[in-house]
Amino acid sequence: MQNKFDLIVIGGGSGGIASARRAAEYGAHAALIESGRLGGTCVNVGCVPKKIMWNASRLGEMLDDATEYGFIIERGGFNWGTLKTGRDSYIERLNQIYRKNLNSSGVQEIQSRASFTSNGAIQTEAGPIRADHILIATGGLPTVPLIPGAELGITSDGFFELPQQPEKVLIVGAGYIATEFAGVLNALGSNVTLLLRKDTLLRGFDVVLRETVMDEMRQNGIEIITGTNIKALASTRANQLTVDCDGGKADGPFDAVIWAIGRHPDTTDLNLKAAGIKTDAGGHVITDAYQNTNVEQIYAVGDVTGRRDLTPVAIAAGRRLADRLFGNEPNACLDYDNIPSVIFSHPPIGTVGLTEDEAVARFGSDQIMIYDHRFTNIYFAPMQRKSPTVIKLIVAGPEENIVGCHAVGEAADELIQGFAVAVKMGARKADFDNTVAIHPTAAEELVTLRGSRKPSGQSGAKP
Ligand SMILES: Cc1cc2nc3c(=O)[nH]c(=O)nc-3n(C[C@H](O)[C@H](O)[C@H](O)COP(=O)(O)OP(=O)(O)OC[C@H]3O[C@@H](n4cnc5c(N)ncnc54)[C@H](O)[C@@H]3O)c2cc1C
Repeated sequence: MQNKFDLIVIGGGSGGIASARRAAEYGAHAALIESGRLGGTCVNVGCVPKKIMWNASRLGEMLDDATEYGFIIERGGFNWGTLKTGRDSYIERLNQIYRKNLNSSGVQEIQSRASFTSNGAIQTEAGPIRADHILIATGGLPTVPLIPGAELGITSDGFFELPQQPEKVLIVGAGYIATEFAGVLNALGSNVTLLLRKDTLLRGFDVVLRETVMDEMRQNGIEIITGTNIKALASTRANQLTVDCDGGKADGPFDAVIWAIGRHPDTTDLNLKAAGIKTDAGGHVITDAYQNTNVEQIYAVGDVTGRRDLTPVAIAAGRRLADRLFGNEPNACLDYDNIPSVIFSHPPIGTVGLTEDEAVARFGSDQIMIYDHRFTNIYFAPMQRKSPTVIKLIVAGPEENIVGCHAVGEAADELIQGFAVAVKMGARKADFDNTVAIHPTAAEELVTLRGSRKPSGQSGAKP
């Protein structure tokens, strides 16, 4: 094995692969070390299998809706195993495609766990290797609480391994993974309880998004228990799980308990101390605007840095880094402002820019205006079932610069990317107003917003 490279990347996930391939395209000799499956979290136990599950759950909803559109449909049930087989084989194909792409880019793939040594080398199972530049892209892992019986529960990784659909399931957590899994399982027919430590889901998202989603989840039959901590988990003789909670109750027994309480950086085996690399209190590798760590020629991108845990963020940061190191672009770096994101909830959320609270904190409440609108998408026109769409623009200053653009409802997941371009380019409310609408769509509502109001701290576009 060659043992000297221009770049060694530790971690073959979104950020690592993108960076190694971009560096190799510039002619750099790059090696990528991965101990698990190529593609990392996103491909194997994240975005990709999650979106397939969400698609299945949306199909289930649409099959129910179809009768009111006049279709005569007999539902013969749902086969979790069929979906899992199809999903898993798609992911295996992706693993192969990633391998092929690495090879065709000229990146040397090394299947191994990697760690730093005190003499500047990277230790692999095949021996030490060296490089002028080293990139840490080791991602994160799901967190399991330190309580008795915690090992009886599963994490998001375990969710994707479930051989059959749990009939009655408890999901513990308030973030987007808990929200998405609850929606998917509920729409596929499981009985879902969601347990939150505090009083709201999706903290950090705009109030209108989290309130609308919580209301809709409850409306769809998900039990949401707030202000509750789990103290212990135990197994019954029938291999079901019971929970011991304080501050509330969760009626078990459950067929599965899913921990979705957060993720932590995967640095345990790296031996960062040997290289003198600094981490923050949460264990994330500390990086500057250029993804530099405190040690020269050692960098980090993606979830291990804890800056925005999203696949396109890891990819963009990894590519910009390669542009800077090998592409003669000395100032290349990722701008972390106005990064759009979607939550594949029921209904989905699309969001970019500041929340109302953040906008008030940054500009002062007298400098911002809110434009919002709540409506029912035409999809629901012939149906008894109605689900709301809420859109909200937050504008700042006399020019009414758009600093936040939020949507929750049918199609919010697909409409936000285009609006994110406009927000990133510095669009003003007048630019939206000057854009001719596309009718009838949900997106048109964002360019036909009239009326305004000052933030009251109580926004929510409630009817
Ligand atoms: C359930 C779930 C759903 C998600 N949904 C979305 C979504 O819809 N959209 C979105 O943008 N993001 C989503 N994410 C987040 C997204 O998956 C991550 O932000 C992204 O994968 C981070 O990429 P990364 O390169 O930083 O790390 P990862 O993709 O996690 O890759 C890190 C790799 O490093 C390897 N590794 C770790 N330590 C070592 C070592 N010492 N030696 C060798 N290899 C090592 C690991 O095996 C892993 O393959 C989701 C995550 C989860 C868990």
